[in-house]
Amino acid sequence: NAIEACIHVKHEGGNNLHIYDDEAVLLRRKKREIVDQVIFGLENHQFELYLQPKYDLKNLVVIGFEALIRWIDPERGIISPAILLDAIAGTEAERLIDEFVLEEALTILKGLHKLNRTLSLSINVSPAQLMSPWFAAQVELYYTKYPILMEHLRLEILESDTFKNLDVFKSHLENLKQFGVTLSLDDFGTGFASLTHLLMLPINEVKIDRSFVTSIDTNEINQMIVKHVVELAEKLNISTVVEGIENQKELATVQNLGVHAAQGYFLTRPFPSSKLKDWWAEQLLNSVL
Ligand code: C2E
Ligand code: MG
Ligand code: MG
Ligand code: MG
Repeated sequence: NAIEACIHVKHEGGNNLHIYDDEAVLLRRKKREIVDQVIFGLENHQFELYLQPKYDLKNLVVIGFEALIRWIDPERGIISPAILLDAIAGTEAERLIDEFVLEEALTILKGLHKLNRTLSLSINVSPAQLMSPWFAAQVELYYTKYPILMEHLRLEILESDTFKNLDVFKSHLENLKQFGVTLSLDDFGTGFASLTHLLMLPINEVKIDRSFVTSIDTNEINQMIVKHVVELAEKLNISTVVEGIENQKELATVQNLGVHAAQGYFLTRPFPSSKLKDWWAEQLLNSVL
């Protein structure tokens, strides 16, 4: 299929100029095909945000959700966001997807607010999206319409992307913060200037990357890293979240290390946002039984 072909072509590489020409043509054609498929998919409701709860680690209460996009293609099944987003990077489909995510997020937030007024919703945004004028304008517009809801919208920024000009990036973040949103640094620890980002950027939350969490119960180095990130974050008034908790031992370890919140398959796997009300009712029931 076009997506796999595109990724395949991209990874072929090769020094031969002739092959490179062919590849460039092929890549352009494949990208065009994917863009068309995404546009068709958006018009035909093939995209849905899935939700993964985020739990406070003191009492294991749900404090919010993260929205994760899924492309449910009738023929290919569920296509993961990593593959999708890589394939459409830099195309007009990227903007359409970003717009879809923000609009859907607002709809979900309205529902969340009815369940519990303290719940937050996090969406993932690329640095390019954060810096683009349409995004700031849209966030501002939503803030004028729904100021209270926007206080519960959280933007997760990928730490692994290098921010070329930290001062420019910071001013974009400060601009967005005026419109109620809170900011989270995602996949923390995977960038090459992690500590600089933590100290310099006006963020409210840091999400420690899954690579530090896997087997943390037996990995003393990861325990030490997480412990120090928590201490530093507390000094900076930044809350800490760990992603990718897959078993009881990892959960107990991060609880002991004083991490504030967690997500992971062991707690709850992402589920379709259309199931939110049912899921909420069920977990309320379970918590009293
Ligand atoms: P992320 O923001 O770091 O999201 C966490 C990823 O880990 C998600 O993968 C989630 O399904 C997965 N995950 C959660 N708990 C566990 C666990 O216990 N074990 C393991 N192995 N994985 C777990 P997903 O949904 O495939 O998303 C991958 C990445 O794609 C996200 O990483 C995020 O960077 C990006 N992404 C997802 N949705 C969107 C979106 O709407 N917009 C943008 N720009 N990026 C998105
Ligand atoms: Mg995220
Ligand atoms: Mg992450
Ligand atoms: Mg990630």
